[in-house]
Amino acid sequence: MPLLTRFVLPLVLMCIMTCQTLAQSVEVSVCQFMDDKPAAMSLTFDDSLLDHYTVARPLLAEYGYKATFYVVEKYTNQALAHRGDISKRQYMDWQQVKQLADEGHEIGNHSYNHHGLTRIDASRWDEEINHPIATFQDRLGLTPVTFCFPGNARNSEILKLALVNHINARTYQQSFGGKNYTHEKTVQWVNDTIANNKWAVAMIHAIIHEGKGYAPFPNDEKDFVAVLELLKAHEDKLWIDTFANVSKYVKLRDSVTVQWIDAHKTFTLKTELDTKLYDIPLTVKIQDGSQQRLIKVMPNMPTSIQ
Ligand SMILES: [Zn+2]
Repeated sequence: MPLLTRFVLPLVLMCIMTCQTLAQSVEVSVCQFMDDKPAAMSLTFDDSLLDHYTVARPLLAEYGYKATFYVVEKYTNQALAHRGDISKRQYMDWQQVKQLADEGHEIGNHSYNHHGLTRIDASRWDEEINHPIATFQDRLGLTPVTFCFPGNARNSEILKLALVNHINARTYQQSFGGKNYTHEKTVQWVNDTIANNKWAVAMIHAIIHEGKGYAPFPNDEKDFVAVLELLKAHEDKLWIDTFANVSKYVKLRDSVTVQWIDAHKTFTLKTELDTKLYDIPLTVKIQDGSQQRLIKVMPNMPTSIQ
């Protein structure tokens, strides 16, 4: 059958090869940040301050953002004793902290007594870092996953110790509030974060002067609303989420490898990390020839791209 040999068979072969080439052109890549946004941002509130609950909480709800509240065990224990005494700094009580957690915010660990860890004896580090874990479990029914150093004071040994029971610790931040705060600096910071595809972390203490917390905004909540308005205006370019969620995403993203189960139809994002703890999906870009789409993928689960 010379005709078959000379024309049909090569055509069939060509078709098979073309189909294989097309199938092989499916590319799977994990996006740098959720929803393929170019940058990420976490809002963190330090020191269990009452205005986090009375001022920040309703505003965050209005703008639809989840934040991280770094709670100091001793301060929250003191909350009810200070309540109503205007000479004392006002703190959130456990019930208020629990409400923030129930609403989807992260409650992070900001130590037992808020001692600068580099200034106390190394024998006390373990208690300062880990004592709040059992208290959070008891009072809030949750285990904190990230840590924040009091006064940001740390060294490599302290950092290592904090990471034994936490997936991440805040080691860089942009300070908000205080006498020298200006909105212009924040605009520049947001622009820089987006232009450089970074994950930026805002460190906020007091919002209003009234609660006697550290470094309130010069114009109280008016300045904080301006921050939220600015973030809203850049929402298409910023993934705004808790410090824990962005930590989980970044660590998962950097740990996974793509493993095909069924040639170019089903794959798994394989990770050695514990997916019970790292319980966040990754955004994956599927490039199928000229077609591109985004899907959400839970690591270690088979994912079909058909
Ligand atoms: Zn602090």
